[in-house]
Amino acid sequence: MNPCMLVTGASRGIGAATAQLAAARGYSVAVNYVNDVEAAEAVCAGIEAGGGEAFTLRADVADEAQVLAMFAALDARGVTLRAVVNNAGVVGAIAPFAHYTAARLKRTLEVNVLGAFLVAREAVKRMSTESGGAGGAIVNLSSAAARIGSPNEFIDYAASKGAIDAMTLGLAKEFATHGIRVNAVRPGLIETDIHASAGAPDRVERFTPMIPMRRAGQAEEVAQAILWLLSDAASYVTGSFIDVSGGR
Ligand code: NAP
Repeated sequence: MNPCMLVTGASRGIGAATAQLAAARGYSVAVNYVNDVEAAEAVCAGIEAGGGEAFTLRADVADEAQVLAMFAALDARGVTLRAVVNNAGVVGAIAPFAHYTAARLKRTLEVNVLGAFLVAREAVKRMSTESGGAGGAIVNLSSAAARIGSPNEFIDYAASKGAIDAMTLGLAKEFATHGIRVNAVRPGLIETDIHASAGAPDRVERFTPMIPMRRAGQAEEVAQAILWLLSDAASYVTGSFIDVSGGR
């Protein structure tokens, strides 16, 4: 049986590109999503058409019961979980700081931080060699926003990614002797739906001039870094960050 990789938020964007590349590298891919079942099924169909293995798993990562059910479903399949990509993420609408509502702050932190913690917790329980697992690797999706702070746009989102950076460092150290490596990628401006979610579908065009390489990145370029961090080629890499941001 192929080793399994769980990619959260894999119905679109960076997650979908990661799922596709993972399948091409021989993983059986668990394609998590929360709303867009058709998009998630299309990702699986594309993988299967290319001779790969994939299946969908619906769960809101911000909901502990749903995360537990998702991992129970993985257990029931009898898969050997070797890789997890904590990719699901949301951003609130671009707004001045004084306009942030408590509901928006809560949702951003719950999906981006609580969700990543819950998924990582269930993953290490299964992968740790200390508890009989086969070992593995986790890649967390941080963001260049964690370095920049995203003023006038979404400081809450930037802060959530700062939390991901701290989580990455802590998990890397706590599980270094458990056969689990934990790293993060920090994408810059990548062409996905997330900018429209922030209410700015033209954000890529507006910000391109500020990027040293003068272009936005593609989801596939982020996926390449994720797959490298998960691979044996990165066997001595843990607690590290790769900026995939065109120099920004
Ligand atoms: P995207 O195109 O907006 O896709 C978001 C994905 O996350 C979708 O698959 C969505 O599922 C899923 N999702 C959202 N909330 C979820 C939840 N509560 N539970 C489970 N899945 C959930 O995003 P993206 O641009 O590919 O971003 C992926 C990751 O990279 C995020 O963590 C983001 O913060 C980070 N990132 C992106 C950029 C960028 O410029 N694009 C830059 C830096 C960092 P549905 O389709 O079902 O809604």
